Amino acid sequence: MLEDKEQKRTSLDNLGEFRLIEHLTENFNLNHSSSKVGIGDDAAVLDYTDKKTVLTTDMLVEGVHFDLSYMPLKHLGYKAVMVNLSDVYAMNAVATQITISIAVSNRFPLEALEELYSGIALACKLYNVDLVGGDTTSSTKGMLISVTALGQAQDHKIAYRSGAKPNDLLVVSGDLGGAYLGLQVLEREKEVFKVNPNNQPDLSPYTYIVERQLKPEARKDVVELLEKLEVQPTSMIDISDGLSSEILHLSKSSKVGCNLFEDKIPLDPTVISACEEFKMDSTMVALSGGEDYELLFTIDQNDFEKIKGNPHFTVIGHMTEEKEGNHLITRANTKIPISAQGWNSFKGE
Ligand code: ADP
Ligand code: MG
Repeated sequence: MLEDKEQKRTSLDNLGEFRLIEHLTENFNLNHSSSKVGIGDDAAVLDYTDKKTVLTTDMLVEGVHFDLSYMPLKHLGYKAVMVNLSDVYAMNAVATQITISIAVSNRFPLEALEELYSGIALACKLYNVDLVGGDTTSSTKGMLISVTALGQAQDHKIAYRSGAKPNDLLVVSGDLGGAYLGLQVLEREKEVFKVNPNNQPDLSPYTYIVERQLKPEARKDVVELLEKLEVQPTSMIDISDGLSSEILHLSKSSKVGCNLFEDKIPLDPTVISACEEFKMDSTMVALSGGEDYELLFTIDQNDFEKIKGNPHFTVIGHMTEEKEGNHLITRANTKIPISAQGWNSFKGE
């Protein structure tokens, strides 16, 4: 529905792979001293001196991870980078470089790839990461994007999933459930559009949640804030699949249990009103809706004073002995086991 039928279309066939890569990457600069050689040689050359390197990769497939009927390509490029940077920040590291590999069918003109790369460029600029390489190839159908992100951290700063201890506090950044509800709004508008293509949807009441879906922000600021507050998370993970499955990952890796308090889960007012409209339970949405890209971490109780009252952080529970298991303590004060409903199983309901 966001497609502009009048736009200019330059076929990729007229360009050739080298000129295409050159064209798409000409405005990218290297800003990190660790980026010795970027695009243009057979491989990038990086130099991380005394720090540890973290590396992560994610692939996004059209029709599986994104739908171009409501995802503008610029947003897609931005989001593809965010998804990866989020994983770097979840290690409590500083993201420094990315590579981008794309496969595109001849359905896409040059202008579409320019859009995609404008989103990638914006993400690189705002998050201070260098694009140092990638690969470009054709696909028989649709678009694939694979992003690899690299980051650095001092050894003792890296936060693993495995470091949580009983009695540690469980903390989450931002608020939850928005991205999932934003997707519900977009899916609904897509169905309306199929029936009546002249219908101009008014998405203004849903700005926040639609943005959470289309333009997520990785929490670079949280890593910086924790450093400033001198808080070393004992464990950390990013929320890509929903709170419940991420809690279970932390608990399992750390060999602990967890008590999560329903009344503490941070929800934006827009999320609460959209839940009423879609007749969904806001706790379920926070637990199982994915793609919020917030950070979930544990801290030693002695660090509580340092984060107390900070608007970016909410203490939502605490870790326990492993044998006690993982539970949600409801508003009615009942104890329900947390199950591994990720985003996928939720979607299938
Ligand atoms: P090779 O044939 O050796 O793989 P390529 O022609 O694929 O080389 O790539 C040439 C240079 O351009 C390399 O530095 C590579 O990392 C970079 N590159 C290729 N495709 C992309 C892309 N889609 N985005 C960013 N850099 C790319
Ligand atoms: Mg190549």
